[in-house]
Amino acid sequence: EIAPMTAANGPALWADCWPEAAVDSHKYSRGAALVASGPLASCGAARLAAEATLRAGAGIVTVATPPDAVATVAAWRAALVVKPAADMAELATLLGEPRLRAAVLGPGLGLGDDVWQAIRAALEGDMALVLDADAITQASRRPEEAFALIKRRQAGLVFTPHEGEFQRLFPDIGGSKLDRTRAAAARSGAIVLLKGPDTVIAHPDGRAVINENGTAALATAGSGDVLAGIIGGLLAAGRPAFEATALAAWMHGEAGRIAGLGSLADEIASALRGVLAAGCPEFKA
Ligand code: AMP
Ligand code: MG
Repeated sequence: EIAPMTAANGPALWADCWPEAAVDSHKYSRGAALVASGPLASCGAARLAAEATLRAGAGIVTVATPPDAVATVAAWRAALVVKPAADMAELATLLGEPRLRAAVLGPGLGLGDDVWQAIRAALEGDMALVLDADAITQASRRPEEAFALIKRRQAGLVFTPHEGEFQRLFPDIGGSKLDRTRAAAARSGAIVLLKGPDTVIAHPDGRAVINENGTAALATAGSGDVLAGIIGGLLAAGRPAFEATALAAWMHGEAGRIAGLGSLADEIASALRGVLAAGCPEFKA
């Protein structure tokens, strides 16, 4: 069966994916990503995801945000590029920027009927995608359309549901957690990361891993937004989607361990610096 990833062995599996920058790299060679924000009341989720995307390996991150949240997002981290998108058509246009290698859609994005328009535009584009939170709920309202669009794509696509989101998107899939995640990946054509202390990551071709280095420090609001951002950062850096997703789960657990209980989600994102500073354990072995 599948040997779980633990604090000790995780990166040994994914050393090739470890986020590193060559001496001659610049922000666009490291990779550009877009994170879509919802309106002011829910823009915290995208702020957390965008910070994690930038820290995990993207060279430049744009947050597309409704006009009411522009000032708040811009004040969050000076390093984030902020672009207003008055409606979903404008968000879809921003998602068409050719230099983007990855986008994170879902955290705080919104449940309105108009939101699917932007997600569909992203699915029809050729950048790697992380679909979390509200984007999973949006897909669960039209799964056949979503899965057909996903199966037509070349670039990687990752769903990152917690149990509730998983049941919304795959209501009829049962069995063990490993079996369910694999069946969901095969059904959807996406890489599926099913969250929890035993996070399972499955590829449509049947590959799967279990990550077990997470701690209760991760059981805090916004923690999942940070995970979505880490995956987005590794995808922006050009890493292959299955390996990037597995490594991101491990890095998220390690960041939570370093940050410790009592940490807020943005502090878990900040702890990525410690994860990267410690380097890839595999390189030191
Ligand atoms: P979300 O529910 O979207 O905020 O995601 C929560 C994140 O924290 C997921 O990556 C979970 O796997 C992780 N997490 C939550 N609680 C725990 C726990 N008790 N032990 C390990 N990981 C956890
Ligand atoms: Mg979440």
